[in-house]
Amino acid sequence: MQGRNPLPAMALTILQHPLALHVLTHLRDRTTKPALFRTLGGQITLLLALEATRDLATEEKPIETPLEPATGHILAKPLAVVPILRAGLGMVEPFLDLFPDVSVGYIGLERDHLTAVAHSYYCKLPPLAGRRVLVIDPMLATGGSAVQALDVVKAAGGIDVALVCIVAAPEGVALVERRHPEVPIITAALDRELNARKYILPGLGDFGDRLYGT
Ligand code: URA
Repeated sequence: MQGRNPLPAMALTILQHPLALHVLTHLRDRTTKPALFRTLGGQITLLLALEATRDLATEEKPIETPLEPATGHILAKPLAVVPILRAGLGMVEPFLDLFPDVSVGYIGLERDHLTAVAHSYYCKLPPLAGRRVLVIDPMLATGGSAVQALDVVKAAGGIDVALVCIVAAPEGVALVERRHPEVPIITAALDRELNARKYILPGLGDFGDRLYGT
């Protein structure tokens, strides 16, 4: 079997591909309309999905090409993605395109307007043991939802777990690193800070609203 073990502690990976910068710029642009926003969100998620799975283990598989016997390599470990509702739904499709056998779980988190503490109102997870589990949420802002989702995924048996987002704030990265130090974070951008309303600056606004035009 080839492939590395889960990434080392506190790994923050920021996409370096020029296409990621290009797509992100149009995602940030306030004049980008929902239809294009969805397309761009899919494109950047595709790049993130490739990055988040670049160390997946493979195993040898003997095959016959039309010309001779050969040894190929196939994925050795199944994958699960777990979007945090609602915005995470906008990132699921590219994972299904790349990994048709991926299992999809869902975690719904709602923030209490008074306490700002998120609680889980919905949770449906596939078996997680033995899988690479990618928790997906486009905006890592305070990190509260991500930490809670990671708590849930680990309690359900997830061991090889990573967090994939499109834009991260330093505050969110710091919280996830403190509470789940072994969980790698893969993002397309690390932005400057949160504003008083906990939106990421410069950010791209409310991802769910821009995705669904609400
Ligand atoms: N969620 C969003 O959609 N945008 C932010 O800037 C922060 C959280």
